[in-house]
Amino acid sequence: MNRVPCLYIVVPCYNEEQVLPITSKLFLGKLAELVNQDKISDNSRIMFVNDGSKDKTWDIILELARQDSHYIGIAQSRNRGHQNAVLAGLMEAKDHCDITISIDCDGQDDINAMDAMVDAYLDGCEVVYGVRSERDTDTFFKRFTAEGFYKLMNWMGAEVVFNHADYRLISSRVLQELANFKEVNIFLRGMVPLVGFKSTSVYYERSERIAGKSHYPLKKMLALAFDGITSLSVKPIRMITGLGLIIAVLSFVGIIWAVVSSLLGRTIAGWTSTICIVCFMGGVQLLCLGVIGEYIGKIYLETKARPRYIISERTEERDASCKEARKNDRIGGSLTPKSKA
Ligand code: UDP
Ligand code: MG
Repeated sequence: MNRVPCLYIVVPCYNEEQVLPITSKLFLGKLAELVNQDKISDNSRIMFVNDGSKDKTWDIILELARQDSHYIGIAQSRNRGHQNAVLAGLMEAKDHCDITISIDCDGQDDINAMDAMVDAYLDGCEVVYGVRSERDTDTFFKRFTAEGFYKLMNWMGAEVVFNHADYRLISSRVLQELANFKEVNIFLRGMVPLVGFKSTSVYYERSERIAGKSHYPLKKMLALAFDGITSLSVKPIRMITGLGLIIAVLSFVGIIWAVVSSLLGRTIAGWTSTICIVCFMGGVQLLCLGVIGEYIGKIYLETKARPRYIISERTEERDASCKEARKNDRIGGSLTPKSKA
């Protein structure tokens, strides 16, 4: 890579008036450091995304932008949640820069990991995941629920990087492809791995919030997990089909048992037929539901209209001059390639 890349740090902010004045300085310091080391260009920016805050967050962002041209901001028309705020920032940034790093504005994610992220990009990675190496600063409850969250997600078929939240570097090239993922229910942690390209992880220690309070209580975290699973995977439907199959087999065994009991005269009149019908209907219904679910799952995935393929490299760049050269070859009537000399 010859050119020094331009970096946009994308920072979602929702009611963060307490912490923003502190962390904005830290981000700017890190940006200056990276510029001084010639790792990124001076037209790099810190882009705040105000997610419909009800406090003075936007005023603070406006003031920061007035003070230093490295700060820029966009505001969402209303609160749409963390994932949408990050996506809005990334989509806005992708046409202006070479790389983006998304990071929360509460100071929990170690900004020093950005050095390693940019280094990994310079080494050829297009996506670099920030992964928490430990969760000592979290309470036992937060740690337990958060780790359970990642395990549940993977078990349910939503491929996510363990202990990685939304602190990551993404190149604008990958973002151009991510823009083709048209779904409305977004779960970036699961979508970015789907885009592909060369990726790696850098590890950092997560600290406590510098100020303000978390917007992710257990209720919201469960909602996020549910959204993540249902928007990325149809595995729950497959589980219903599997359950249907198991119950259908058990019902068959149940029917045989009921008939045998009846033949041996160990039952009262009407019992066998009732049991047979209950078993038969239970098994057949659940199996049918699963099959119908399979089709609904397919429709669901089709409606997302995701790209069917993404090409990351080509052996030859088909640019205009190439096409021109071929045309000239054909006009000349020669099929043999021209010598390079
Ligand atoms: N955030 C947002 N919109 C929301 C909720 C949160 O943009 O509706 C931002 C918030 O300002 C912060 C980040 O998302 O920068 C993560 O939120 P938080 O720190 O509250 O979550 P936690 O780290 O506790 O999981
Ligand atoms: Mg936080």
